[in-house]
Amino acid sequence: MAPLTHGIHHITAMASDARRNLAFYTQILGLRLVKQTVNFDDPGTYHLYYANYEGAPGTVLTFFPWPGLRRGRPGTGQVYATAFSIPAGSLPYWQERLRSHQLALAAPVQRIGGNVIGFADPDGLILELIETAGDPRPPTPHPDIPAAHAIRGFHSATLALSQPDETAALLTGLMGYRESRREANRVRYAAGDGQPGTFVDVLVDPSLPRGLNGAGTVHHIAYRTPDDATELRAKALLERNGFQVSPVMDRNYFHSIYYREPEGILFEIATDPPGFTVDESLEQLGSGLRLPAKYEARRADIEAALPPLA
Ligand code: ZN
Repeated sequence: MAPLTHGIHHITAMASDARRNLAFYTQILGLRLVKQTVNFDDPGTYHLYYANYEGAPGTVLTFFPWPGLRRGRPGTGQVYATAFSIPAGSLPYWQERLRSHQLALAAPVQRIGGNVIGFADPDGLILELIETAGDPRPPTPHPDIPAAHAIRGFHSATLALSQPDETAALLTGLMGYRESRREANRVRYAAGDGQPGTFVDVLVDPSLPRGLNGAGTVHHIAYRTPDDATELRAKALLERNGFQVSPVMDRNYFHSIYYREPEGILFEIATDPPGFTVDESLEQLGSGLRLPAKYEARRADIEAALPPLA
């Protein structure tokens, strides 16, 4: 039987200012805004999706920007860091670029064979760039980032845990992950083709505080599954193993189930189809506010309540 999940689908984090968030991810990091919509559970707030040109699963970082949201605290029981893959040899370009935008950078480190730099977005979300040789995913066109240096999508997500065993068992037992590498206090798990964009690192660092939700922290991580039938199989299997799983939710661009891993991190399984071109063309992705059918009748009120992005 095919594995239930085969990599990261998207990661969703919280922000406090939609325009600042948009400027950072599109202008500085060079991602493409592939969808402007609202939080389907709270249509008074945006849900902004940044990704590669096509919005491929494994490249999609999304935000709920709540104006004035207080800062959270990155720590255990969270997706602690979100890492993007950049081509081998691109680190100096990015150090220079990020410094020119007055971002504070951690000193580069070597991790499991790749050079890594860490920094934070304007809300304090911990981000990393990791040099990866031979990432086959295409660069996203950008007016001032050379294609040879552009981000290719996610490299990995780091889960900070105090008791990793049960989570590791969930990843490798039910979710289709396998241990790939191990170094110091970090274990890397891979899924599917084992390429960047599938990796989940489990970090055990007793110096980290317990994480607190808020701006600059990750809300949840979604794993890819190929179709609705596999998602239903995952739901049944998780439930048989004692997990409380949400009903299947129609998120317009994918269908989702949600559950918490043993230390409390919110996990989602999201289908690859139908994808972001379900309500606008590839060329137009992200160009206007898209609403699910249930909110179209309220469009005027919703638009009036959202802060303008441009
Ligand atoms: Zn999600």
